[in-house]
Amino acid sequence: MYRFAPSPTGDMHIGNLRAALFNYICSKQENTDFILRIEDTDKARNIEGKEEEIKELLRLFGIEWQHFYIQSENLKFHRQMALKLLSEKKAFACFCTEEELARKKEEAKKKGVAYSYDGTCENLSDAAVLNNEKPFVIRIKRPQKTIRFSDFIKGELSFEPQNLDSFVIMRADKTPTYNFACAIDDMLENITCIIRGEDHTSNTPKQEHIRQSLGYEQKMSYAHLPIILNESGVKMSKREAHSSVKWLLENGILPEAIINYLIMLGNKTPCEIFTLEEALSWFELKKISKAPAKFDLKKLLQINREHIKKLSDERLNSLLGFEKDLSALAKFYTQEASTLNEIKEKLKQIFTPKDFKEFKNECELLKAILKDYNAEENYENFKKNLMQKTGLKGKNFFMPLRLILTGRTHGPELSDLYPLIKPFINDLARI
Ligand code: GLU
Repeated sequence: MYRFAPSPTGDMHIGNLRAALFNYICSKQENTDFILRIEDTDKARNIEGKEEEIKELLRLFGIEWQHFYIQSENLKFHRQMALKLLSEKKAFACFCTEEELARKKEEAKKKGVAYSYDGTCENLSDAAVLNNEKPFVIRIKRPQKTIRFSDFIKGELSFEPQNLDSFVIMRADKTPTYNFACAIDDMLENITCIIRGEDHTSNTPKQEHIRQSLGYEQKMSYAHLPIILNESGVKMSKREAHSSVKWLLENGILPEAIINYLIMLGNKTPCEIFTLEEALSWFELKKISKAPAKFDLKKLLQINREHIKKLSDERLNSLLGFEKDLSALAKFYTQEASTLNEIKEKLKQIFTPKDFKEFKNECELLKAILKDYNAEENYENFKKNLMQKTGLKGKNFFMPLRLILTGRTHGPELSDLYPLIKPFINDLARI
């Protein structure tokens, strides 16, 4: 059983999508279910509408889930489990105020020692707890033994108990902290493997400790995915445009190209251009490199061009939104444009009325003939006849012809473009 557990607190970034994708692939390979869980426990940071956006994006990428739920719906289980830990004395009520804790942290800092909870409330008697009316949080007692788990990418990991502290599992407002809610939900859903970003590695021993304290024995495996660096080798921030999945899509990068790129990132793949369906037959988590992966927009754009070429004419036309069938021309233009937006620009330039500043007379002369041109000839004949009829040659012939056909003085070889632009030549001579 796999799950993707995004928080509805910001735009989906490529790191999130990569985790979703890998979880989905593994669930498919193992023929088991995939759960989408919206982690909404940090109320202050939740953003209205993000849940729908996450679902829409996953659908667009062909990532389907069998179960969906919102983490806060499990609140009663979180509370029950906290009570169980309290009654078994594996957790305790802590009445220390923020101010007291801040002061102790400050003292530790002054002494140059690492701060950890000093156990003030750990051994309060039941009576002392029951008679105290002040607000309290619930802390889980720190583990007594080393916490170990295995990671497909990082290998065997172990964390010593003194580094884990007696951390808070329930806040004073009776809501669970992220680690507690996450650990309980993964346990209740029988998750067998957790794939998520490397930034969660330090949460894993805490979540393991929570489940072990509850007596849960089923072993979970992990894959903590290395961080993604930007082109200057620094951790890619959520604020960087390229890291936003929405930005990539809005800029005309195809979902299939993004999938292809994210599966390839820091991985050894048998080929460079592939579909999600194809990757299902060979993807292996343990082949993902331990080293951080560097995001390379140029590579993504190259992959995008290849996927544009592979689109069906029908889908490409509908993505471009032109009335005419321009799919062949669009594919041709991948030689100088990498995104749907750039291709649209090029095609628009061809079909919008041109204001010829250079070669004005030559353009008019050529257009007069091309209006009634019968598009039967091959390029060589076309060129020869047109030169003969207009008396133009060299630059004075090719530049205006190129302007009429493409709207620009530079661009692809006219002989290559000609067979594709042929059906539109009469129209182009009239605009
Ligand atoms: N809500 C967490 C996040 O979006 C999920 C982490 C996890 O997969 O456990 O980072």
